[in-house]
Amino acid sequence: MIIPKKSKLTDEQLQEVTNILAEFECNLTPIPGTTRTIYAIRGDERHELMINRIEGLSYISKVDTVQSPYKLMDLQASLASHKIKIAGKTLGKDFLVIAGQCTIDPKNPNYFFETAAAVKEAGAHVIRGGVWKPRTSPHSYQGNSKAVEILMEAASRTGMPVNTEVMDEEQLNIAVDAGAHMIQVGARNALNYSLLRKIGEKTANKGTIILLKRSLHMGPLSEFICAAEYIVAGGNPNVLLCPRGTVPGMDGYRNHPDESITPLLKQKTWSPVVVDPSHSVGKAVYVPQAALAAVAYGADGICVETHCSPKNGIGDDPKQAITPDVLKTLVDDSLRIFELSKKYQTYLNPGA
Ligand code: PEP
Ligand code: MN
Repeated sequence: MIIPKKSKLTDEQLQEVTNILAEFECNLTPIPGTTRTIYAIRGDERHELMINRIEGLSYISKVDTVQSPYKLMDLQASLASHKIKIAGKTLGKDFLVIAGQCTIDPKNPNYFFETAAAVKEAGAHVIRGGVWKPRTSPHSYQGNSKAVEILMEAASRTGMPVNTEVMDEEQLNIAVDAGAHMIQVGARNALNYSLLRKIGEKTANKGTIILLKRSLHMGPLSEFICAAEYIVAGGNPNVLLCPRGTVPGMDGYRNHPDESITPLLKQKTWSPVVVDPSHSVGKAVYVPQAALAAVAYGADGICVETHCSPKNGIGDDPKQAITPDVLKTLVDDSLRIFELSKKYQTYLNPGA
């Protein structure tokens, strides 16, 4: 919809706008109102360049696009009926728990094996384990490709799918080729569009699930959903949206907890939401309540850093990981809240 600055476009202006639209195979229908005429764009009105050129005209106030910029991720898109499944769970219907260490310590693989067995026992469905780590300081432990073997060994010992973060194409290829079932895009790479597209292409038709964290700096929800759109446009529709806290942090927490965006996401996109309370609040003692709040807000799952012996962990684990016994209680309580919260889904999206 094109909104002119004055009450209507002159014939010359109308011609100029019509010419631009024609270059993008669109045309125009005037809609006269009492005080102003607005102009509906017929055709695909999402061409960014077309919108920019029209908005650049001195006599145009703005272009309102009714259609969403994420045509694949949109709740109205045909993919809305797509079901994502992992570990025998169907997202949306069943609650999903991803749990495990922030970081796999290649010098102490037994901790990871012990954690993996313990999170299984506690009721988790997917094991998480960081092979490569995005660390603020280049002097901190950066990860090690050898840990992929430990990750996959934990998968075969437990029979559970595993999740790990990749930060570049080389890591992506190593992880996918090794058989990782879930690939995490971390907060720092959530806006790395070329990586997002590559991930979609590399994992197309493989059944790999992508856990897309929300960037630390994302504002509008469309930015988050569009990031997922890149993965889907690359060829893989199995994307889970993962709010994990944004900056500036809330006094006392590592980040600003953002689990409250779940109902807003659910009105815009069909993609399941799996919340990471660990990086949101950043301290083990705050994690269980943050996780339960996330479930109350309608999350389809949670991703929780868990370590069999946090004080012996590396990366975030010593401060942030909960223990498997806490996880067990949390899983039980989450399942109850999940059922309660699900009752309000039709209130949120009537007719869905
Ligand atoms: C992590 O999951 O350990 C991690 C680094 O996450 P994020 O990208 O959300 O900081
Ligand atoms: Mn971590």
